[in-house]
Amino acid sequence: MRRRKNTSVLPAILVAMILIAVAGCDQFSLYDVDKPAAPATSLNYSDNKVVILAIDGLRYSEGLGDSTHQYVSAMWNELHPAGTIYSNFRNEGPTLTMPGHAAILTGTWQSIANDGSERPGAPTLFEYYRFATGAPQQDAWIVGGKSKLSALSYSNDVSYGSSYGASVDVGHASDGETRDQLISVLQTHKPHLVLASLSYVDLKGHSAVWNDYLNQITIADTLTAAIWQYLQSDPYYAGTTYLFITSDHGRHDDAHGGFSNHGDTCEGCEHITFVGLGPDILQGTTLGAGIVRTQRDLCATVGDILGIATPLSDGSAMSEMFQPVTTGIRNEPLSP
Ligand SMILES: [Zn+2]
Ligand SMILES: [Zn+2]
Repeated sequence: MRRRKNTSVLPAILVAMILIAVAGCDQFSLYDVDKPAAPATSLNYSDNKVVILAIDGLRYSEGLGDSTHQYVSAMWNELHPAGTIYSNFRNEGPTLTMPGHAAILTGTWQSIANDGSERPGAPTLFEYYRFATGAPQQDAWIVGGKSKLSALSYSNDVSYGSSYGASVDVGHASDGETRDQLISVLQTHKPHLVLASLSYVDLKGHSAVWNDYLNQITIADTLTAAIWQYLQSDPYYAGTTYLFITSDHGRHDDAHGGFSNHGDTCEGCEHITFVGLGPDILQGTTLGAGIVRTQRDLCATVGDILGIATPLSDGSAMSEMFQPVTTGIRNEPLSP
């Protein structure tokens, strides 16, 4: 739309005065990507909380893609009635652990090293969150089995970085230990944003013992339901918390090497689990194959839930899994 020309001096003076007033307002520059403003000093942010729970290396065909749901019975019988499943959720970037987790956290495909020697090149949700709210480091966490996940606590983006990073609690000896540490972190620090990663489905998969891999899926499945139950039982989290269960990547389908490895663009590697749970997320809903969503979209979705901008993310919010707003009180489907 073309701007109308000013026809007298007075409107030009008024415009100049308004511009000066707006430029002096803190909010105006809060999300300025090129030159971030100083973070807010008060903790006046949304009361919504988000836990992202990644089951590392769970192939869709042994998860919710198995019509019997024999290895993920808790997800199917307990969590699906309370939430929304996407049946075509994908990692369309590098299907490795560090790039996969980084895609969720940054909303961009990240071809970073998979050994933990390289941080993401775009800001993480932790950085967006702490930058926008002024929240302390104890309000954002990574909890996981693999030690290398610590490289995802903040990015190399010079406008964000270590000043806005997450607290880290990794290197756990089992998924049960990761669950215990996650709940300890929740109880002790009451964070608003957590990425938790259950690493042992992937490690058992790499061991190439099929039954060990399957057995570990059943363990992770039980833990996901237990974590959701915990969030419902803690008054601080109940009713204000979203849990997103997904994976960093799948594993090769049988035509591309089978379950013992992963890392290419085959269907087995790219197609992953997604379950969303939370106060206004649709219950008992499956969003079908025609709705393709990727890890990048989860970043934007979490940003909307927390009421923070994710300006360098490429995804878009997954608004279709939220209850439609009809009251007019909340005009935006995802606004906190
Ligand atoms: Zn992985
Ligand atoms: Zn593959």
